[in-house]
Amino acid sequence: MTVMNVRRLIPTAAVAGAVALGLTALSACSSSDAAESGSDGKLDVVASFYPMQFLAEEIGGSHVSVTSLTKPGVEPHDLELSPRQIGGLSDADYILYLKNVQPAVDDAVAQAGVENTVDAATLTTLESHGSEVGHDHGAEEGGEHEEHEGEEAGLDPHIWLDPVKYAEVAEGVGKSLEKADPDNAADYRKNTETLVAELNKLDKAYESGLKNTATKTFITTHSAFGYLAERYGLTQEGIAGLDPEAEPSPARIDEIHHVAEESKATTVFFETLASDKTAKTLAKDLGLKTGVLDPLEGITGKSAGADYIEVMESNLTALQKALGAK
Ligand SMILES: [Zn+2]
Repeated sequence: MTVMNVRRLIPTAAVAGAVALGLTALSACSSSDAAESGSDGKLDVVASFYPMQFLAEEIGGSHVSVTSLTKPGVEPHDLELSPRQIGGLSDADYILYLKNVQPAVDDAVAQAGVENTVDAATLTTLESHGSEVGHDHGAEEGGEHEEHEGEEAGLDPHIWLDPVKYAEVAEGVGKSLEKADPDNAADYRKNTETLVAELNKLDKAYESGLKNTATKTFITTHSAFGYLAERYGLTQEGIAGLDPEAEPSPARIDEIHHVAEESKATTVFFETLASDKTAKTLAKDLGLKTGVLDPLEGITGKSAGADYIEVMESNLTALQKALGAK
């Protein structure tokens, strides 16, 4: 992606000028102009975790300064925020998060009361997947998911792993940035179109790459790929649940043994940010291979690509290999 490079081309003098203007604006303008009062003249955007950060950076381009609440390499589902992060949230010009992935973020965002707050889940439609492996996200609630009170608890939040749904979210993010920062609306629109075109290309690559395969079933430790599976006619068999750290039940392990034989699955997938112990044990028991399928909840040096698009391309290659693409 090239959008980010624009920022590096701005001369130092221009940045200094923008800083001075920003400070003037801050002291002279009313709170309704707060969206443009960042100290560097950029819109201060806080993203909850990587899939939100990527959208904000690609669409915001040179007009935004994005920070993520989830540092690279941190497993996001059980994230805890520091008092400083929670306090600083109310200074953001724009918050982009995805409800029901990170309970700590949901609480902090609700308290921050920032006018331009966008829940990505409202920009597409959510579905429930894999109800047989439990609904809850908190490992401490394991085994009690039937009694979970949240009516949304059954909905799968992993929408970004379906390029079509992610493109819908991108469109919504673009529109909301236009509203938050009307002066740069044309650029946000242009960047959104560029990103959506890349996501459409990715969708086509998945569609054709997974059309003819020896099996349609893949086994994974983290049930993050429900939307992806549905989009491309595959079946995800999750060992645990939507939470990557949850321990699978003995009954579920038995089922997986059965499913693996029936479906001729070849590979047990694990992810980079959580333990691979369960996947390795299971693969050994079943005589299967292990492979990495990255749920893109964070990018690190170990990721099979530098950004969302590249890692999704690596995921496609891994799936084609495991499913026996022809
Ligand atoms: Zn997840």
